[in-house]
Parts: sequence; C-alpha cells; structure tokens
Amino acid sequence: MIMSTPRIITVANQKGGVGKTTTAINLATALAAIGEQVLIIDLDPQGNASTGLGIERRDRSVSSYDVLTGSLGIEESAMPTAVPGLSIVPSTLDLLGVEMELSAAPDRVLRLRSAIRTAFERSAPFSYVLIDCPPSLNLLTLNSMAAADSVLVPLQCEFFALEGLSQLLETVEEVRRTINPDLSIQGIVLTMYDGRNNLANQVVQDVREHMGDKVYETVIPRNVRVSEAPSYGKPAILYDLKCTGSQAYLQLASEVIRRERRLRAA
Ligand code: ADP
Ligand code: MG
Repeated sequence: MIMSTPRIITVANQKGGVGKTTTAINLATALAAIGEQVLIIDLDPQGNASTGLGIERRDRSVSSYDVLTGSLGIEESAMPTAVPGLSIVPSTLDLLGVEMELSAAPDRVLRLRSAIRTAFERSAPFSYVLIDCPPSLNLLTLNSMAAADSVLVPLQCEFFALEGLSQLLETVEEVRRTINPDLSIQGIVLTMYDGRNNLANQVVQDVREHMGDKVYETVIPRNVRVSEAPSYGKPAILYDLKCTGSQAYLQLASEVIRRERRLRAA
C-alpha cells in the first residue's frame, strides 16, 4: 500500500487565549471522525491540548520534548486518545527549557521537521498532523512552521484582533524565505464570536476587509459547551456534538479539507 504524504498544519498565533488549542483539538477530532488518521503534536509547555484530550500530566511518560531533543521518534512519542483515529504527542514542562538547551545546535529550527520526515519515511500511519503552538513566536513555533505545509491562524473576535497579525505574517514570510519555501497560509478562523455584541460584528467585517479570502467562511461562536469540554478531557465534538461550537468546527473542517486539496494540487 502506498501511503500518500500527510498534510501538516500548524495552529499558530503569538497571542494567548485566542482559541489555538480549542481549534487544534476540535479540527483534529472532526478529521478523525471522517476516517483520517490524525496526530496532534502539543508544542505548548502548558499542555492544554494534552489535558483537553484526557492525557493527564502524570501519564505523560513521553513528550514533544523527547522528539525535539532527538531522544525519541514521533511514533514512539504518540499516545492514543479516547477519539478513534486521533493520537497525540503530549507536552511536558521540560519544553520550557528546550530553547536554551538547543541554542547551540545549528539545526535547532529543523528538529521537528526532521523527526516528522523520519517518521514518514518509516511510513507512520497518519494522514494529518496538527501542531498546537505556544503563545509566542519562539523556537517551538518556528520549528512548527519549518515542518508544516500550512499555517492556520485563529483570531479572537475582539477589539485588538488584527493587532499582532502582521508580525505573525512577517514571521511566516521569513520562514518561507529561509527554510520552508512551500509554507502557505491555510486560513484565518475567527473564534469566540458573540453575535449579540456589535463590536464582534465590526471585527468580523474588518478582518474580512483586510484579509479577504484568507478568512474562512465559518466563524466559531462563543459557546459555553466548548469551554466546558476540556475539563472533561474531551473535545467539544465528543462532549456535545450538537452544540453550536461543535457544529461550527465540523464546518470548519470541511473548509480546511477543501483548501488542503487545492494546496496539494498546486
Ligand atoms: P489558546 O490555545 O490560543 O491559548 P484556547 O483554545 O485555550 O486558546 O482558548 C482560550 C480559552 O477560551 C479556553 O478557556 C477555552 O476553553 C475558551 N474557548 C475557546 N474557544 C471557545 C469558544 N468557541 N467558546 C467559548 N469558549 C472558548
Ligand atoms: Mg493553547
């Protein structure tokens, strides 16, 4: 059997609390639900993606730290989750020190990319890899961009939504110029939208005006079920499939797949 190469998407924004982890978890779950074999790599020392998928800290005997330092391969570091078809390379607090530890390594930005390539040369069974980034444009995020085919950017529907976006896009451009010329923008997803708030509507309009068709049609509503789900160690899609947040993430997944097909063909 010939495995087609996986699609690697990094979920990045240097602002915290904009919905990166929520998007990574629920998009991954939606892709797994339609039969894709999905791997999340948790690159945030906070480990919210790991916790949100039910992997408690005490059970994390392997982590993305081991992958970056080269002591373990991706396959050995991936743990199964309660979602069929979804595995995760969890994060541990060791990640906080990785930037210092790798500072003298000439290949420090390429660690994740090498690990992923090695895994797929050994035919690791994943069709999608989603990377959950920390809220910073640090070495971890750069590793994710060096490894990825595309970047998915969550933006919270709030007054300063666009602030910081140009810096993020400049970083993407820099990565393209230097280490990963094929990196593209998968898209920008507006999150935590509250339709009763006039400001939120203004933000959606502004972002669409500035970013055009980079912005997905799907907007993720603010939904209490989505915020409750992680405390049960479950993606919202598993916790409450019918809630508006879960339904929006399913819709986002179909947009992402459509764009991936187009990017792959390009
Ligand atoms: P980031 O990874 O960018 O820091 P998170 O995904 O952790 O952001 O989201 C920040 C907080 O907002 C979390 O408590 C999360 O549960 C909550 N949240 C995210 N998306 C939604 C949503 N659509 N509705 C309600 N709460 C949300
Ligand atoms: Mg996060």
